Amino acid sequence: MLKTPKISDVKNKTVLVRVDFNVPLENGHVADDQRLIATLPLIDFLQKHAAKVILISHLGRPDGQVMSEFSLGPVAKRLQEKFGLRTSFVNECIGKSVSEAVEKLEAGEILLLENLRFHKEEEVNDARFAKELVNDSGAEVYINEAFSASHRAHASVVGVAKLLPSFAGFGLAQEVTALSNLLEKAKHPFIVVLGGAKIDDKVSAVRNLSKLADLVLVGGGIANAFLQAAGFEVHHSFMGQKAELNVKIAKEILLEHQTERTVVDVHDQKQASKIPVPRVVLPIDVLAAKNGQVKDEKNVLKLQLLRNVKDSDNNLDLQYLDIGPETIDLYEFLLSKAKTIFFNGPLGVFENQLFMKGSKEIVKAIAKNTKRGVTTILGGGETNAVINQFNLRDNFTHVSTAGGAALEFLGGEKLPGIVVLEKTN
Ligand code: AMP
Repeated sequence: MLKTPKISDVKNKTVLVRVDFNVPLENGHVADDQRLIATLPLIDFLQKHAAKVILISHLGRPDGQVMSEFSLGPVAKRLQEKFGLRTSFVNECIGKSVSEAVEKLEAGEILLLENLRFHKEEEVNDARFAKELVNDSGAEVYINEAFSASHRAHASVVGVAKLLPSFAGFGLAQEVTALSNLLEKAKHPFIVVLGGAKIDDKVSAVRNLSKLADLVLVGGGIANAFLQAAGFEVHHSFMGQKAELNVKIAKEILLEHQTERTVVDVHDQKQASKIPVPRVVLPIDVLAAKNGQVKDEKNVLKLQLLRNVKDSDNNLDLQYLDIGPETIDLYEFLLSKAKTIFFNGPLGVFENQLFMKGSKEIVKAIAKNTKRGVTTILGGGETNAVINQFNLRDNFTHVSTAGGAALEFLGGEKLPGIVVLEKTN
């Protein structure tokens, strides 16, 4: 059990809180508040008990460089303006300016420090950097409220936790409980739906989840690697930075499950029968176009993927950008058989109206399943964006802010940020 802070742990203390404010920014404004909202119960608790609250986070991938487009300044503004929190901001996360700002901080006030990843030491878990984060802020207590960053052994996640009395934030503890239940007590049939574009990370997640779940339904970019692995033509579809390796891993996964079937009941008016379904289910049709930016429906093709017709000269300028209508029907049908569902990653380029239907219909189907008592867990930044877009947030058992961390956790991996909290408690 992870230890969350009690009143006596934080009362009148200076508390360093690792949050995940890696939020989308549009024209310098926070475009999605979900990750901010997730931290409010903890912040409220700390304020009530007169703690000085120092928030630290990363934003984007500035790779150790100071890059103004990745500044957390707009987040401080948002905390103040939208959520009415007394928040100040320093454009550094270590050094004299931090100590001076903390000095001025009153009990119950919030100080957000600048992007940790402006220092390359953060991502290599540099011990001196961790010490500076602690000493310069004068922190007496550390709380990790960034489950979504806890799969990274970074200084603010691991190094700092070793130096101070450390606790799990309320949201982090809740995430770990929800995902542990899924891991240990998932009712079967357990169906995973996996999409998105972080294919380099996600192919391994499919390997792990296909051992845990009865069925893994793939869509989005990840489906392209599996389709190619299964021998289908995918033209110029996106298959990740390490496309060749991803296809190789996908092939291994398909082979691993070659001799397994999940039996699914089918009823129609006249009779009931059973059909065998492979462990990893691939789309049977897709929407394809030249690229994800096309504007006109006339330029979108619906392709059936029932047998392979190789593009012999590979000249067709096409990418697979969403699952097709028949796949939507198939996935909806399979999901109606589930007792537990986990969903991560959009099934198409949902930012474009023309390719959002797969994601929309499948999250709607999952929401419907929640109503019939199915445990439904969704995770990931983009997944959060999808359910917000369709106003479905309150229709699931648990919505995790974490993508990669949740996938690693469900894959049975020990997350460094969680391990260190268990050890220090
Ligand atoms: P992730 O962060 O892994 O969940 O990926 C989310 C991104 O995947 C979204 O921005 C989608 O536009 C993108 N995506 C979904 N399907 C595809 C696809 N078939 N090809 C390329 N990108 C996709």
